[in-house]
Amino acid sequence: MDTATMTPPRAAHAIDAIRSVETFIISVPRDVPYLGPLKEGEFINEKGYLVRRGNKSIYPSSDMTLVIKITGESGHVGWGETYGIAAPQATKAIIDELLAPVMKGRDPGAPVPLHEDLYDLMRVRGFTTGYYVDALAGVDIAVWDLFGRVTGLPLATLLGGRRHERLPAYVSGLPRATLQERCDLAVEWVGKGYRGIKFAAAVSEEGIVREMAALREAVGPEIDLMVDLHWKFEASEAIRLIRKLEPYDLYFAEAPVQPEDMEGQARVAHAIGTVLALGEEWRTTFEYRPRFEKRAMGVIQPEIGHTGITEFMAIGRMAGAFHVKTIPHASISIGLFTAASLCATSALQWVPYHEYQHSIFDRNLAFTNGVMGSAAGHYILPEGPGIGVTPNDDLWKYVIAA
Ligand code: MG
Repeated sequence: MDTATMTPPRAAHAIDAIRSVETFIISVPRDVPYLGPLKEGEFINEKGYLVRRGNKSIYPSSDMTLVIKITGESGHVGWGETYGIAAPQATKAIIDELLAPVMKGRDPGAPVPLHEDLYDLMRVRGFTTGYYVDALAGVDIAVWDLFGRVTGLPLATLLGGRRHERLPAYVSGLPRATLQERCDLAVEWVGKGYRGIKFAAAVSEEGIVREMAALREAVGPEIDLMVDLHWKFEASEAIRLIRKLEPYDLYFAEAPVQPEDMEGQARVAHAIGTVLALGEEWRTTFEYRPRFEKRAMGVIQPEIGHTGITEFMAIGRMAGAFHVKTIPHASISIGLFTAASLCATSALQWVPYHEYQHSIFDRNLAFTNGVMGSAAGHYILPEGPGIGVTPNDDLWKYVIAA
């Protein structure tokens, strides 16, 4: 017997067995870079990345992502996607080299034990977040999708049941060059029925207070206005700034201090009269738990492209135990992890909104088949088995590595 190529024996209760795991790096060109036009002194480097002076984070000039295809012995296919906007080659290598061979033969009807086992593989080496957990997130979404495809059941049903028939969408980002144009765009979205608007004011040339004052004036008192502060401030600076924003009645203030500064996060949360929203960069309950215990935020923003479905649900339910609301983050997705996020979120209890990155989501609807969309201030949730949507032929034109 060739023990070197053995797969685990199939359990009697298994619904299927994973036959193959494939990965595809996708790069879709953009006319205007994410977060709006480049300013003086900002440029696209030789590898296609840019850094904005306002927020210091690196972004690709195209929309990059990593798509995962898992095929079962039954012939059913599950689709996943993970966060792939910076060096997706790293995440792809982790899946291809480490995860895929371990996953072969495993039952997609048992996604949680599989996720736990994959997390354990690199725990001893300290890979408890970052690229490794992004890789886990992508395969986890694909495994849950395959579970749904084999059983014919929607993801929300597999997760315990759909609670929300539609989800309010807050408009994220106002990618225009001037404050007047951003105000006009905000008013345009309000006119289409959207009740929540967020701007990454840390990139505003006019200054954050002036930006939020102008936006409040433009949209009127009824709209939920949010500000993303992109980790730019020391805790005392953040407290002073957010207090200055109080006259504009913010729905939440996001990420004012650096993510490593747990004490600072809690200090800001306790000192302001505005809800603090945090968490887009955390991937596991281990990262969230100490912040919940310190009451460091009133809203969490898990990004399913980083967490996967298994951790997303664990985080969302843990938030409920601390009376904290979940408003999921929506990043650069070709549509697959957004679909997973919408399905999973529909099974969580305290969800006032889901982020809506209109400049990405609307365009990328062209790359998936199935029900999904947005209208009149809400997401139209995916329907059908698994995550509800599948990639279509148009997507494969943008594969840069497979
Ligand atoms: Mg943010």
